[in-house]
Amino acid sequence: MRIDLHTHSRVSDGTQSPRELMRAARAAGLDVVALTDHDTTAGWEEAADAAEAAGIELVRGIEISTRHRGSGVHLLAYLPDPAHPGLRRELDRIVEGRDSRAPAMVAVLQGLGLDLTVDDVAGELSADTVIGRPHVADAMVRKGIVASRDEAFARYLDEGRPGYVDRYAARLTDMIATVADAGAVSVLAHPWGRGRRSALPPEEIAALAALGLGGLEVDHQDHDDDARAELRGLAGDLGLIVTGSSDHHGTGKVDHELGCHTTAVAEYERLLDRAAEGPA
Ligand code: AMP
Ligand code: ZN
Ligand code: FE
Ligand code: FE
Repeated sequence: MRIDLHTHSRVSDGTQSPRELMRAARAAGLDVVALTDHDTTAGWEEAADAAEAAGIELVRGIEISTRHRGSGVHLLAYLPDPAHPGLRRELDRIVEGRDSRAPAMVAVLQGLGLDLTVDDVAGELSADTVIGRPHVADAMVRKGIVASRDEAFARYLDEGRPGYVDRYAARLTDMIATVADAGAVSVLAHPWGRGRRSALPPEEIAALAALGLGGLEVDHQDHDDDARAELRGLAGDLGLIVTGSSDHHGTGKVDHELGCHTTAVAEYERLLDRAAEGPA
């Protein structure tokens, strides 16, 4: 069984439709795939139909934008009740923050002298796409301002670069409780990727486990071997589920091919068991 628990479609910043993504997952030899678009469940229905047609198992998920100790932290939520009022309210608020940030970013980039409009960024997106910095990056590539998403982030869009604009994110500790109340299992996405270790040292992760955190994404491209070994040990000590996944973004992210990292069957079964227990 090959299990990949973290992927993105065009409903957020992936480059495939949910249907194309499920077909690609089958072609990559996966048996189970989670769709975890940023802050939205809008891709679930199409993905479920396509997964059934392709003969693979879909896990309904969301990668939720949160903040902890001043840093952005991504929280994966698996199998939540999508109608849970507290969860809905927070997701709506995050998406509103994204919608108002996009034109603000364009204005800042225009102020830097770049030839870029809101229409360049949003013109090709469908109504249910949750807009993010990668879409701004894609528009900059189309306009010939930069050669790739990575270059757009490195020069303009990363935190601390001149085109960065902040936006609303949920409080991590509150969101862990909300996700549990929505009957879902929460897993910290790439907890020690891209310098996040300082926001989530071992003692913080232990505190989050006590609040109901379910697991850690250990096997992820943003973690080196040392980080993976330490996180695996920590998960063992704290009784947290260990996941591995590609964080696939279609052609939007290099070295994140479907199934490049996978989750062990026993860990996936723990996740399903925990979700079946219902709201905490
Ligand atoms: P946002 O949530 O809109 O602030 O955008 C964050 C998303 O941008 C992340 O989830 C990644 O998918 C992507 N991202 C962040 N940093 C980079 C980078 N350096 N290069 C390419 N994509 C990135
Ligand atoms: Zn993303
Ligand atoms: Fe992420
Ligand atoms: Fe992701």
